[in-house]
Amino acid sequence: MATVIHPSPPDHLTTPATASVATPGDAESRDPATGELLRRYPAATREQVFAAAAAARAAQGEWAAQPLAIRVRMLRRFHETLYNRRREIAGALTRENGKPAAEALASEVATVLDFARYYAEQTPGFLRAPWAGAWSLGMKRKRVRVVREPFGVIGVISPWNYPFMLSAAIALPALVTGNAVLLKPSELTPTSGALLGELLLEAGLPRDLFMVLQGSGATGGALCDAPVDKIFFTGSVATGRKVAVACATRLIPCALELGGSDAAIVLADADLSHAASGIAWGRFSNAGQTCVAPKRVYVEAAVYDEFIGALGRVVRALRVGPGASVDTDVGPLLRPEAADRLRAQRDEAVGRGATAVASSLPEATTPRADGAPETRSGFFAPTVLLNVPADARVLHEETFGPLLPVVKVSDADEAVALANASEFGLAASIWSRDTQRAAALASRIDAGCVLVNDAIVAAGMPDVPHGGVKQSGIGRTHGIAGLEECVRTKATVTERFPGLPQPWWFGYGREHLAGLEAFVELAHAANGFARLRAIPRLVRMLMVARRPR
Ligand code: NDP
Repeated sequence: MATVIHPSPPDHLTTPATASVATPGDAESRDPATGELLRRYPAATREQVFAAAAAARAAQGEWAAQPLAIRVRMLRRFHETLYNRRREIAGALTRENGKPAAEALASEVATVLDFARYYAEQTPGFLRAPWAGAWSLGMKRKRVRVVREPFGVIGVISPWNYPFMLSAAIALPALVTGNAVLLKPSELTPTSGALLGELLLEAGLPRDLFMVLQGSGATGGALCDAPVDKIFFTGSVATGRKVAVACATRLIPCALELGGSDAAIVLADADLSHAASGIAWGRFSNAGQTCVAPKRVYVEAAVYDEFIGALGRVVRALRVGPGASVDTDVGPLLRPEAADRLRAQRDEAVGRGATAVASSLPEATTPRADGAPETRSGFFAPTVLLNVPADARVLHEETFGPLLPVVKVSDADEAVALANASEFGLAASIWSRDTQRAAALASRIDAGCVLVNDAIVAAGMPDVPHGGVKQSGIGRTHGIAGLEECVRTKATVTERFPGLPQPWWFGYGREHLAGLEAFVELAHAANGFARLRAIPRLVRMLMVARRPR
């Protein structure tokens, strides 16, 4: 039997690391501000993953056959349970992920509360399947009904940056539409996944319908090979490509939410202080580890100096520290080694003439072994880069941390061209007092979502489809589009007049063909007179049509 990797008891919120010796692939929950090991979760083996998929399939049929009201009730209880435990859950997310308390509450817990309520409200209408008359003229005697059925067992592989929200926003619509879900959380944030499972059990979800498979990439790989019916993957482009290949080999569908290098465009008529605050928040919240963060800023030349002055003031005032402190604006990086890549991206730009403006780091943090001044423990100082050369890595690669290049452009057209000159296309933002003009520009940007005068929040709005174009992904989560990804359609086509001859069945011959020609003229001739002339020939054909054999 699988490590029926039902969620752990609540003691994991406080219990220190298990005494057992770590084995490769185990998932470790650590406080990123200190590196302290909070808890270790044994990895699910390949056999356990396959057994979990079999157990989920055995349970799923009955779940899908339940009246929808029962599944919706589970979602409402989940909402109530999460609401009651909101502070404790937010605290656990801060401890494991390092994000400030305000962000754990707003962007993880409150967002998931919204998603639970949204899907409880929207799913009944979405799954309603009335009978309708057929569309085509030749098939008017038919009635059609399209039902949406669950895929069966859905695998969800999630990242560490919004570990609770990005797992729940997929698992909740999957469950309410009648699927079973196997979740593979990031090995860096296993407790966030375990907590989601615990809340679902508490909400009355039958066992085996949601299982948490802890472990590293190998566990994720095993999940893609296991007998599941669809994979939802959120993570990097490189891993997403491996997941797509594994799914293609099994000919199962996958939805991929991948990386981004989102552009922010600041137009000359923007409220510059508002734009500087909003872009700084979008870029540096969650320590810059947000897929839809503005990662490149293009500013119209007329307001460039004023904008960077405002941005510099915001950045220098940011307070960097442990997420658990209520005064912290920017927490630590979840993976201290990510600072190496950020530093390389920054240094390449600075080495070619860019200027760095950074906030200061907390004094009390432990210096890294390499003594790097800007990275202490898991902290990296939020940094703005000015005068960045057009081909600098920082403008073309994903920067997954608090690093923000700002580029001067001559006008909005150049900004749009540069925004689109990227292999990514996740989201973007436009900052302008003229919201109509901004909305018109939005239509020219290659991205899954464009925000006007705000950043990142659309990814937490349950009614807004989320996903990218180009290398940023395939498919959509969230919103009704997210429900649509959890089901497949099945059509039933019936006959209004059973027993009447079916003129397209066998009995071919000269008259039959003439009648068919008359019918095609009636249905498709451009000229009304030609259509009318076809009617007598059609009637003749219907009169000679044989009864069905
Ligand atoms: P990764 O691609 O490293 O990991 C994502 C998940 O895949 C983790 O659970 C990981 O496990 C697992 N995994 C690793 N190898 C495999 C494999 N071979 N087969 C199956 N699963 C595997 O991404 P990160 O966790 O580092 O997340 C950061 C990236 O995610 C960034 O690029 C960011 O832009 C993107 N992202 C995209 C979002 C979107 O909605 N478009 C939202 C959030 C992040 P483990 O961690 O245990 O190795």
